[in-house]
Formats: sequence, C-alpha cells, structure tokens
Amino acid sequence: MKDGIPLEIDVVEASASKIGSVDFDNLIFGNIFTDHMMVCDYVNGEWQAPSIQPYGPIQLEPSAKVFHYGQAIFEGMKAFKDDEDQVWLFRPEANFERFNRSSKRLAIPEFPKDMFFEGLETLLNLDREWIKKGFGNSLYIRPFVIATEPGVSASPSKTYKFMIICSPAKAYYSGEVRVVFAEKFSRAADGGVGYAKAAGNYGAQFYPTNLAKEEGFQQIVWTDANTHEYLEEAGTMNIFFRVGNKLITAPTSDRILDGVTRKSVITLAEEFNIPVEVRRVKVQEIVEAAEKGELKEIFGAGTAATINPVKGFGHAGKKFELPEQEDSYASFFKSKLMAIQYNKTEDKFGWRYAVKER
Ligand SMILES: *Cc1c(COP(=O)(O)O)cnc(C)c1O
Repeated sequence: MKDGIPLEIDVVEASASKIGSVDFDNLIFGNIFTDHMMVCDYVNGEWQAPSIQPYGPIQLEPSAKVFHYGQAIFEGMKAFKDDEDQVWLFRPEANFERFNRSSKRLAIPEFPKDMFFEGLETLLNLDREWIKKGFGNSLYIRPFVIATEPGVSASPSKTYKFMIICSPAKAYYSGEVRVVFAEKFSRAADGGVGYAKAAGNYGAQFYPTNLAKEEGFQQIVWTDANTHEYLEEAGTMNIFFRVGNKLITAPTSDRILDGVTRKSVITLAEEFNIPVEVRRVKVQEIVEAAEKGELKEIFGAGTAATINPVKGFGHAGKKFELPEQEDSYASFFKSKLMAIQYNKTEDKFGWRYAVKER
C-alpha cells in the first residue's frame, strides 16, 4: 500500500516453467533459480514501480559502478511450507531493516518497505510450487541492490537495480566442519562495513579461506583486527561456544553482523533457561577450555544452515577435536527453530510471517 492505494506490480509471467526439469532430491545450495524474479530500478532520485519478470540475464554497461567500486549489498532469508500448504517467512522484517542498514552504509538509497513486501509476496505466490513441503525443504530468497550508473569516477551511483531471486534448497549439510581461528587476516575493522551485508565483505574472505582449506579447515572464525585475541564470527555465520553448560557469543558491533538466527538462539536460550553470555570471547579462554575438556560445542548460526555444528578447530598450529555431544545445544536449537519455521509449534515470539495467497 502506498498512501492507502494498493501497489501495482507489473507481472510478466514466464512462458513455461522450468520446474519439471529440476531434481529436488539433489539440489546443490544456490545453484538453481525459480521461474521469476523481482526487479525495481532507482532513477531520477526515486525507486520506480517494481515488476516481476521471468528469471533471466540482465544487461549492464561495463562501466557500471558495481563492477568498479563494489557498491552492492544483499540479504538472505528463507520461505517454508507447512503441511497445509501455507507459506511462511521467518522474521522477514529483521532482514528488511538490515537490508536498509546495509544500503545506508554503502550510500545506496533505502528501499521502501511496502514495495519490498508487496513484491516479495507476489513473487512467492507465483513461484509457490517451488517451495516444497517437508522438514529441511525451503526456498532461499536473495534480495540485493547493485549500482548501475555507467562511469568510472569513484562516487556513488545515481542509479541502482534492486532484485529478488529465489533458489530452492534442501536441508543444508556442509559435511564435517572444522574451523581455524584467524591470526593474520581480518574480515572487518572498527568503523568499517562488517555489520553490513556488503558484497565486498565476502569477496575479501575467499583468499584467506582458500589458505585455511589447504590446512584442512573449511571455515575461518574471524578475530578482532587489532589483536586477534577475541573471537568474532565466521564468514556467513555468527558463532557460539558452549563451555560446560554455558553458551557464549560475542556482542554485535561495527565488525559483527547482527544475525537473525543468532538473536533467535539467544532468545530461545533465555526461554529454556540455558545460561547465555553475550560478551567478548577470548581465544585463550576457548583454547584453555578445550584443553581442560570443558569446551563441549562450537556451532555457527545463520539462515543458510540454521545451525551448523563444528567438529574441531585450529589455533597457532594446534588442532583440537570436539567431543561427540549426546544432548547437543546445536541440535536442540536447530529443532526448536525449525519447529517454529515449519509451523509445528506455537509462535511465542511472533517470528512467523504468513505469506497470503493472492
Ligand atoms: C548473513 C550473515 C550472518 C547470519 O545472519 P542471519 O540473519 O542469521 O542469516 C552472520 N554473519 C555474516 C557475516 C553474515 O553475512
């Protein structure tokens, strides 16, 4: 709604659906996209009328600023279908607000909320068949904005393209994950863009992560850029440590992304009387806890995997394995979150968002 008038969204339907050619049992995360996408352009100082179009390539000038200055941000969220075919989102307002926080930091004009939700829900209704029922099945939703103005002067673009694309996803299993605590490279610095889902934050992690892979670690847990003494977060996930029965995670800051999954885990921990401390986490304290056998678990929290248990970690040339955990917090939080996401339990905190059929 804009000024009380329903938003008109121009819909161009795909001439044929690709869905018949998709093997839903063997999906690779983020490789296949649904039939439609949402598109909205920013020109003349305003976001124009959004449209839904068949998913497909777009044309850009080679000089478009996104290619030269990385003026681009994104979000990641999921849609779930319950046994009655109702489609749900999980805390999408939090993603929308973060989308605009990220935009603001990259000098990208903020996107109107009514257009975001009207467009997203229209898109999800059109591609409803792509959202499969059953625990673990979901539709990964990727909203993003890129700077499209041609010209290689280093200044903010005057034109932008907003898009939403969607990819069907299975339960995310990334294999056994071992992490290494960063000692040299950094993901983010004070005053920087670490808290934003800025495209460049991810590109900058690939090289150090490749080096970590050569050492047998799948991911890096980033530490504070100044001293490398405090554990912050992983590349696309916030990180939790369980020492004894206590859960510990770093507070969000300039350098740490305010994850929706992270804050949901903290709320659930409080709800279920699991002691949780949100404070700086010293590398040394985790290493010592591991040496004493008090470190029970490490797990990542993020939309793609929900909760991703970590098998072991490395620091300063040493490797540590984590014990098998019978009553693991990781599986506890994962099942609690999924029960809410798939509408299998009451929604005490109002996290579910129903996508209305239209
Ligand atoms: C997206 C992201 C997360 C997780 O956020 P969610 O809202 O839980 O998906 C954590 N850290 C980084 C760096 C991220 O980009």
